[in-house]
Amino acid sequence: MDDTLYGTRDKRGNWTPNETLRIAPFWEGRFNKIGRFLFDLVWPWSAFHMATALLYWVFVLPDVATMQTLSWGWAIWLLVVNMAGIFLLYGGIELLFYIRRKQETRFKFNHKFPSENPSDVFWFKSQNLDNFLRSFFVGIPIWTLIEVLMLWAFANGWHVFGWVNWEDNWLWLVALTFLVPAIHEVHFFCIHRLIHSPFLYKHIHSVHHNSINPSPWSSLSMHPIEHTLYFAEIVWHLIIPSNPIVMMFNSHIVGYGALNGHIGFDKLELTDETTLDSHAYAHYLHHKYFEVNYGADGIVPLDKWFGYWHDGSKEAEDAMKERFRAKKERMKARKTGASAT
Ligand SMILES: [Zn+2]
Ligand SMILES: [Zn+2]
Repeated sequence: MDDTLYGTRDKRGNWTPNETLRIAPFWEGRFNKIGRFLFDLVWPWSAFHMATALLYWVFVLPDVATMQTLSWGWAIWLLVVNMAGIFLLYGGIELLFYIRRKQETRFKFNHKFPSENPSDVFWFKSQNLDNFLRSFFVGIPIWTLIEVLMLWAFANGWHVFGWVNWEDNWLWLVALTFLVPAIHEVHFFCIHRLIHSPFLYKHIHSVHHNSINPSPWSSLSMHPIEHTLYFAEIVWHLIIPSNPIVMMFNSHIVGYGALNGHIGFDKLELTDETTLDSHAYAHYLHHKYFEVNYGADGIVPLDKWFGYWHDGSKEAEDAMKERFRAKKERMKARKTGASAT
């Protein structure tokens, strides 16, 4: 497929989409676009996360009586399934698009592949191996532990306001399901902005940002404290009247959905004519410029409200540079002020 119909390639070979990012249409009064927006929100990624959540509920999770007691048996089983699921999804994308390179660099933001850039910042000098090991042996166990604790709380009926069932509260639970991407964006924005404060960035979040050119395994490659803050998103379901299926859907958006921001390609070619939107661009820009786009797709556009939004345009680039320049000035003035006193 000809990617230059959808974007431009610079001299180095990096590809930029023609279409800039837009926040959710209802914030901008583009009410005629809401249908399309909701369709894109659901299909295919959220539908996939809901499908896997239901599969877990039916085939993976033990019965409620078993989950009333914490035990290694069902916890390890859940860990194994999570590892297998992440291996299949992330590994599948890695295999097709990064190892076999089935579409080479078409629709790829950064023309280089991480394996071409050995670096000392990574374990074994390899971004892929470092990211894989951190995801698998630190990230997935922390994710599973939080899931196990939440399911245990559900099985015992522990909740600030009480767990609700589908028969009596289906309308609320459907609404809550649609709100999950918004919960995700608000939670992620808050913890993400927090760990970009200088001290926490240096000691915690820099691990994730070692991957300037992210690939699938970068998604869950974090410091364990960041893993904990990130996956703690599902703890909101102890405060919001919720149901374990919606909680698991949210859990899969954070676990399996972390992939989307790190795919590295704007579109994945499925056939000669069909492509799959990755929704990677906003977070790709975050990995490129660091202090922009702390949230996600602009469903709750906190980045826009706080002045961090980068939509990929020249104007956004200029505004970002101006913000960085002003910040530098402020820091310089503070330093001079401090040494004068
Ligand atoms: Zn990232
Ligand atoms: Zn960051």
